[in-house]
Amino acid sequence: MNQLKKISALRFDGLVKNQKHADNPNYITGSKLFIMNHNLVTNGFNHVGNCIRPPSEFNSILLQATLGCSHSKCTFCGAYKDKKFAIKDRKYLEQDLDFASRYCRHQDRIFVMDGDAFVMPMKDWQWLLEQIHEKLPWVKRVTCYANLKSIKLKTDEELAYLHQMGLKAVFLGLESGHSQVRKDTKKGGTPEELIYHCQRLRRSGIRLVTIVLLGLGQIDLSLEHARDTGKALTAIDPEAVSALSLIPLPDTPLGDAFERGEFKIPDALGMIAELKELVKHTELSRGAFRSVHASNYLSIDARFPQDKTAVLQSLDQALSGNIKLKPEWMRGL
Ligand code: SF4
Repeated sequence: MNQLKKISALRFDGLVKNQKHADNPNYITGSKLFIMNHNLVTNGFNHVGNCIRPPSEFNSILLQATLGCSHSKCTFCGAYKDKKFAIKDRKYLEQDLDFASRYCRHQDRIFVMDGDAFVMPMKDWQWLLEQIHEKLPWVKRVTCYANLKSIKLKTDEELAYLHQMGLKAVFLGLESGHSQVRKDTKKGGTPEELIYHCQRLRRSGIRLVTIVLLGLGQIDLSLEHARDTGKALTAIDPEAVSALSLIPLPDTPLGDAFERGEFKIPDALGMIAELKELVKHTELSRGAFRSVHASNYLSIDARFPQDKTAVLQSLDQALSGNIKLKPEWMRGL
């Protein structure tokens, strides 16, 4: 009962905003955690909880096929604290697809939520992609978040099938290519596994957008974390790299350790030095390298390999104080 109250309260705080069937107490199959709330804003979709999408998917149809994250262990992560992992019942997706077929005829991209919707079994993906073809034939591209575990669970043939059926890209929170950092942050999997499975995904034709997290190696492992992450990115050769800078979140193991003074994050110049080390060790055959997220002290929006030298020069300028860094108060998530 306490759990129910807590989740209900979170919704009243605005974490759950978008849902249509506000009077249905059995909203999610297999989950008794979700109570419906009659005072919620509706956007016509059966969205439950805190909905997160990559910035580039701002104009996509957001279809929520799963809830939360099946891994849910990363020490720095505060996403999806409001829900337990579940695969949503198809009837809600059918309603969402019907809604989109009527009202989203000018949107030709779909982002499938939540955290790692890629983990859905093949039968569910097959059903969903077929439904999209049938009901929204104008959609050109389907994307979702993935993690290492969810890629690992798919065979080469399954990856190729997903690509052929329209799953054109996945966003992966790679975070670090450093073995100890991955272990300490409970990211799951070794750098070798990460490289191997991301290379498999790349061979299938699915585009890979990676997110890496500066500061995760603390002060001690800062440069090693950057170096090994750059090497992993080089081996994987993704279409895009997006660097974020760590901001410890309350009520996470990392945030608590930071509060106790046990987790030490590099300062602004330390983060820039780490970013420089990352850039130095990242070779992409052709791809975007960005640090435009609000958490970063310096914005970079570059194409590699052609812009790499200029990026390194800018970082040197920032390190010597000739380029102003974003003040702490302007950083955000
Ligand atoms: S895999 Fe992603 S969403 Fe899941 S806990 Fe880790 S960082 Fe959070």
